[in-house]
Amino acid sequence: MTSTSVCPSLATGSGTSRTAPLPDCRGTTVSAFIVPRAYALRGNPPGPWRVTLDPMPIDPREVEALFRDSGAFLEGHFVLASGRHAPRYLEKFQVLQWPRRTERLCAAIADEARDLAIETVAGPTTGGVILAHEVARQLGCRAVYAERREGEKGREFRRGFRLGEGERVLVVDDIMTTGGSAQETIDAVRAAGATVVGAAVLAKRSEGRVDVPLHALWEVKMESYDPAECAQCRTGVPVVHPGTTIIAAAAR
Ligand SMILES: [Zn+2]
Repeated sequence: MTSTSVCPSLATGSGTSRTAPLPDCRGTTVSAFIVPRAYALRGNPPGPWRVTLDPMPIDPREVEALFRDSGAFLEGHFVLASGRHAPRYLEKFQVLQWPRRTERLCAAIADEARDLAIETVAGPTTGGVILAHEVARQLGCRAVYAERREGEKGREFRRGFRLGEGERVLVVDDIMTTGGSAQETIDAVRAAGATVVGAAVLAKRSEGRVDVPLHALWEVKMESYDPAECAQCRTGVPVVHPGTTIIAAAAR
């Protein structure tokens, strides 16, 4: 993957901005980048890895760098869950497989939510399990997970999870495309009687929406096409379904 094939806004970082912070949050400072041998990154692959010593706010460019350095920002010919075709795809598990990187991203979310008296962090399966757990660890509260209902739309809490009346919940998710998974988790929290204070995601595409205050660490522009209008289909480029080992191997 080369920088020349990246759309201009991503290449320059000029098109990446944070969404409005959650209410009553800080969210103004941008941490300085450093190259920290002392940050105990043993086990991570070599590369232009950057991290801040102040594990608080995060610059969207650092989020993008984490995805790129982890091989999570894929370029090729992909079929999205919606059925549309796209030349780029975010394979979040390439980032989430690195606990230190996940910890760094979740620190930025936890920082935004620290003054909101969060009692529980909720995330949708599967990526949201890891994120909810790590954000909750950093906030000193608990994490619960919303799973897809079988045979019908929406999500629900199983495994004995209970939410109290008015319990203050932060919903977290990895990549927000339309906002469907996050909104289903929000709806599940409300159905259980608790209160959704806000939502936070690692990356968000422009069409992503939920009905609570949303904080995205990185707003990413990623085009997609109807298969009938896909240039790569016309030129016979093999299409790949994300989530396969083939993609992960191709990213390296
Ligand atoms: Zn195509």
